[in-house]
Amino acid sequence: MGAEAIHKPALDQFSVQPIIGDYEETCKDFDWETAKDALDWFERDQSINIAHNCIDRHANGKLADKVGLHWIGGDGSEKIYTFKQLKEETNRCANLLKQIGIAKGDRVFLFLNRIPELYIGTMAILKVGAVAGPLFSAFGPDAIKDRLEDSGAVAIFTEASLKSRLEDVRSELPDLKHVILCGEHDAPDAAKGEVSYNEITAAASPEFEVERTSIDDYSIMHYTSGTTGKPKGAVHRHNSIISQKSTAQFALDLQDNDIYWCTADPGWVTGTSYGMIGPWSNGITQLVYAGGFDPDTWYGIIEKHQVTVWYTAPTAIRMLMKAGDEVPKKYDMTCLRHICSVGEPLNPEAIVWGKPIFNQAIHDNWWQTETGCIMIANYPPMEVRPGSMGRPIPGIQPGIIDDEGNEMPPGQEGNLAVRPGWPSMFQTYWNKQSMYDSRFQNGWYLTGDRAYKDEDGYYWFIGRSDDVINTAGHLVGPFEVESALVEHPAVAEAGVIGKPDKERMEIVKAFVALKDGHETSDELKEEIRLFVRNRLAAHAYPREIQFVDSLPKTRSGKIMRRLLKARDQGLPEGDTSTLEEF
Ligand code: ATP
Ligand code: MG
Repeated sequence: MGAEAIHKPALDQFSVQPIIGDYEETCKDFDWETAKDALDWFERDQSINIAHNCIDRHANGKLADKVGLHWIGGDGSEKIYTFKQLKEETNRCANLLKQIGIAKGDRVFLFLNRIPELYIGTMAILKVGAVAGPLFSAFGPDAIKDRLEDSGAVAIFTEASLKSRLEDVRSELPDLKHVILCGEHDAPDAAKGEVSYNEITAAASPEFEVERTSIDDYSIMHYTSGTTGKPKGAVHRHNSIISQKSTAQFALDLQDNDIYWCTADPGWVTGTSYGMIGPWSNGITQLVYAGGFDPDTWYGIIEKHQVTVWYTAPTAIRMLMKAGDEVPKKYDMTCLRHICSVGEPLNPEAIVWGKPIFNQAIHDNWWQTETGCIMIANYPPMEVRPGSMGRPIPGIQPGIIDDEGNEMPPGQEGNLAVRPGWPSMFQTYWNKQSMYDSRFQNGWYLTGDRAYKDEDGYYWFIGRSDDVINTAGHLVGPFEVESALVEHPAVAEAGVIGKPDKERMEIVKAFVALKDGHETSDELKEEIRLFVRNRLAAHAYPREIQFVDSLPKTRSGKIMRRLLKARDQGLPEGDTSTLEEF
């Protein structure tokens, strides 16, 4: 038998089916069995391969000549790959991996800028049945070493401009046997296991028989963002595509003719689950922009390439807000049909700001590296409630529970938990099985976040359990205080922590970065404090405000409150491998 699948999907495999109409009806009619039918299986319920479903399935059918990847370089150069070309390229790369001896289950990492080889390489790793580990290209030597050492990676894709950071720690990585050099580079050093991607793939066959991975075979491992502590290697399996495909329809509303742009780097889970698997399993054309953040460039991309669905993050939206309202006026962005955001809570102010600019609401959704797919979302046909993460994805059963696992009634804060068993649930934390086990209690997966649910089933984020502030017996989530702060016209960003206090246990302290054109002063501090005081419960307003130029953030753009705390209190900073440097 060739690489063709034997189980053909019952549904029209080339037509994505966006939810239209009633949310309750969709939830009632949905089950994971139906979602399975929309995929190609080698053996139903037993073997499936993500890369086959993302690439080959389309290349072998009606979508062969459809553009799968439209790549835009930081210098504006472009490369376009149809699904047929992606199949051939990923096959050549898979042959390269076989040639150097990569076997099923091996961990193969990618330390690349957002060049096409990052996307092709990830799919090729999955085709051979190995486990892909994408690394963010801004990582320094220690961050690379930690992850390669922990995972026991045997091979890595890299490129000339990044290689020296790997070389700094290479001697400490005995498991790492192969270095695949992409792009232009000096002659590979065979003694160091270096091979040339271009040289080998140019001579490699465009045919490849995809590994018949079982549903439980590991596919991708992602180290978490490190917002709350040392990053953990969350491991996913091939079965996860069931969730990623259907949630890309439900929450991102992907439809056949969409031009989709996910701004996340594949170093973070959003960049693989929805920067590769979600759109491609639905046969969608996706845009990748390899350059950095710049408001004019970003708006310009949306206009020039007629982006219809855009998935981005609160930090990017806040930076666009900071750049002012005159910039977007230069661009026609009426092509946009749907906008989503993930990674941090989306301040209501951002939705209010975005409405006239994009002519629609930005849809917040919530999930984690561990969940592998969007779990709670503001859906296209639903009313968006600014500040809420939305309602559960069909097939997902979240709950707000107390510490014993009892569900709490609407309106009461508690631990956000999910009933285990959805297809993209992480399978382990690499080398940390007991930590993994500790996340499952009383029949729930504990997310580590705190939230509440309203009467209509919308979920509202309070904060990470570690970040919730206890002030004189009141629990305060930093998000509500930060959201009130950014409503002030001078405030660009805010990070809120609990500062130890003899009387009150903790007081609310805010670190505030101002928008361009505003000067710090004691009067402004007082004005901001009063502004927030009028909006929040008396105990929740920040007793202390400190102006800062910027807030410490992870490279995926999340405010690192633990670092604000450590610096404020002169405590050790802990793992800072994911800290963005300015
Ligand atoms: P670490 O686990 O290493 O501390 P992290 O939790 O930031 O890092 P991720 O898995 O990238 O790593 O992020 C998931 C977390 O991000 C969620 O648990 C939640 O705290 C936060 N988050 C993501 N999306 C949202 C959202 N829409 N609203 C509120 N919080 C969100
Ligand atoms: Mg986490």
